[in-house]
Amino acid sequence: IAGGIGAFVYVTQKERHPGSQLPYDTSKKTIVILGSGWGATSLLKTIDTEEYNVVVISPKNYFLFTPLLPSVAVGTLSPKAILQPTRYIARHKARAVTVIEAEAKEVDPFNKTVTFEDETEIKGKVSHTTIPYDYLVYAVGAEVQTFGIPGVQEKACFMKELNDAEVMQRRFKDCIESAAFPGQDDAEIDRLLHIVVVGGGPTGIEVSGEIHDFLEDDLKAWYPELAGRIRISLVEALPSVLPMFSKQLIEYTESTFKESKIDIWTKTMVKEVKDKSVILQMPDKSIKEVPCGMVVWAGGNKGRKITQDLMGKFPTLQTNKRGLTVDDHLRLAGADSIFAIGDCTSTSYAPTAQVASQQGAYLARVFAQMAKKEGLEAKLSELQKTETVAVDTTEKTGVQSEIENTKKMIANVKIRPFHYSHQGSLAYVGSDKAIADLPFANGNIATAGVATFLFWRSAYLSTLFSLRNRTLVANDWLITKIFGRDLSR
Ligand code: NAD
Repeated sequence: IAGGIGAFVYVTQKERHPGSQLPYDTSKKTIVILGSGWGATSLLKTIDTEEYNVVVISPKNYFLFTPLLPSVAVGTLSPKAILQPTRYIARHKARAVTVIEAEAKEVDPFNKTVTFEDETEIKGKVSHTTIPYDYLVYAVGAEVQTFGIPGVQEKACFMKELNDAEVMQRRFKDCIESAAFPGQDDAEIDRLLHIVVVGGGPTGIEVSGEIHDFLEDDLKAWYPELAGRIRISLVEALPSVLPMFSKQLIEYTESTFKESKIDIWTKTMVKEVKDKSVILQMPDKSIKEVPCGMVVWAGGNKGRKITQDLMGKFPTLQTNKRGLTVDDHLRLAGADSIFAIGDCTSTSYAPTAQVASQQGAYLARVFAQMAKKEGLEAKLSELQKTETVAVDTTEKTGVQSEIENTKKMIANVKIRPFHYSHQGSLAYVGSDKAIADLPFANGNIATAGVATFLFWRSAYLSTLFSLRNRTLVANDWLITKIFGRDLSR
């Protein structure tokens, strides 16, 4: 047993650190990766740094496993369980990766530079730096789309970053404690306990399901006088929720929500978010003010300002408002040496984590192929030099045959276009139930229920990038099952 534990500790602790890795090498090309989300992290995880210097620039020095963010928002999981430091991801690389915690502000595709800034501890003091790149991987993701609807930015909670989940959790618990305040007015209790979730995409559905679980599993026991009064309403502008899922799964979600007493208001549009209410445009176009304690905004995403600025540099080629246009090798249209992946691009695929991570892994293969080709080209030019100075005929013939071989090897290095392989769509709908649209040879299979929930859990566990995260997440699930969620704010 001691040997087994020793081997386990050795395997999990055996890791390189920058000190024992190859250093930055000025003779190698430098790849600058902007971002630390799905696309960037998948690339970083797979790329061989032997032939390149790699620099990662991101405002967060960690990767966030976004599919489990709604679970953090209600305390099922702790934040640390779904975070992985970017340096930790790069620890096994042959060459040390430079990780810079800063926000990229400008890309100059003509001079091949990136400018980034970091706000230091001393408030307001910002340091700017510009660095050159040989290749840029643009993977900055997207930001929350508020459509300029009044009050959304200032008054709603979001579900995009870790901080959003923490803010939502605090605000939700605050609503409950205020409702529990002795002598609280009846109408005010109902207002505080009404949670409005905006957006019937997967984010809005999962957040609603998680809030419902918190209510059922924990709040009913701890706040018996209030629990029955908590209401969750999901508002969606389109005629149905989850348009990307098959019809039967949409119906399953709707019926699960009905059982869970989560109201779904379709064809209803949020027009304004106020301090204590939301203004809705109802299906008949009438306007209604609905009191609520909290609004969670899951209304979709849009491109970041830096992306719009980059598009502006190619006014004739970058005209798609949904995001950056790339070719089938993920090269940015109009720019030399820039690749763009993930939610900042506009492709024929939905902007999902699955697409971004496949694109990141694809680029790692592209860079490996490019390094191989460049290595062979360097070898060829050396051979050609040797050929010109060779006097001995046998030596000359030998070099010529090697030249021919190398030329053939160069011709064989083929960089194939990116191909997306859809592994299916999954979403958690609450009450230990999930839905899944899975592609099979004979067509899609739609499944739902408790078994799908177990599949959802195991699929997410295996998708987590490290053993450490898997252990933390599995442990939190167990702790929540045994002891319930934490009620403290
Ligand atoms: P989304 O774009 O899929 O959905 C946003 C919804 O909000 C839309 O249906 C839109 O009609 C609605 N909306 C916007 N403004 C509104 C308003 N004023 N009033 C009422 N409704 C309004 O956004 P998302 O759910 O954050 O997903 C973003 C992307 O991430 C999608 O591609 C999605 O597939 C992916 N994603 C997938 C999963 C999963 O597979 N489990 C989970 C989360 C996100």
